[in-house]
Amino acid sequence: MRTIRTRLGERAAGFLKDWSLPRQLAGESPYSEAAKSTMSQELRPRLEQADTIGTSICPFCAVGCAQLVYARNGKPVHIEGDPRSPTNQGTLCPKGAATLGLMTSPLRVADVLYRAPYAKQWEKRPLHWAMQRIAERVKRTRDQTFVESLPDGTTVNHTLAIQSLGGATLDNEENYLIKKLFNGGLGIVSIENQARI
Ligand code: SF4
Repeated sequence: MRTIRTRLGERAAGFLKDWSLPRQLAGESPYSEAAKSTMSQELRPRLEQADTIGTSICPFCAVGCAQLVYARNGKPVHIEGDPRSPTNQGTLCPKGAATLGLMTSPLRVADVLYRAPYAKQWEKRPLHWAMQRIAERVKRTRDQTFVESLPDGTTVNHTLAIQSLGGATLDNEENYLIKKLFNGGLGIVSIENQARI
């Protein structure tokens, strides 16, 4: 059985053999291969495996940093800041730099989950079921709470029982449609966006 001293000695010898400084002190140029460790010599560019590059916008906040998305066989393998963007000039904050995990994590919830009143468990439901249920509830709430005019006769045509909170990933066109439908169509006046908060 090898002693701890032997194991430490082997590790120190391996470290000194792999460490570039002793080689450089022995005369090799610090700008040559001597500057590389065994590990760094085996490193390959992360983007080498990509066969496609697309563009996107970071979904996390209102800054809207531009991204380059590298993919292989249709699957994203790396995401970084787009240097052409005047907003972020190729940079991403730690959240934006973690976008690949957001897209590819096996923990990502990709189903509609529903928890019935007083239930302890979440149930998977079809998307069309959720959309139908939301539509029914919005219609019912609006019908029950719609106010055409105030007691003093002022016309308002609104409901104060429904609110909307949008996210930074909504684009101009989507926000326009939200405003048109919720405000002009349904009379909802409480419309806010995370990008402004
Ligand atoms: S990279 Fe950071 S700052 Fe830029 S949009 Fe994403 S979360 Fe916001």
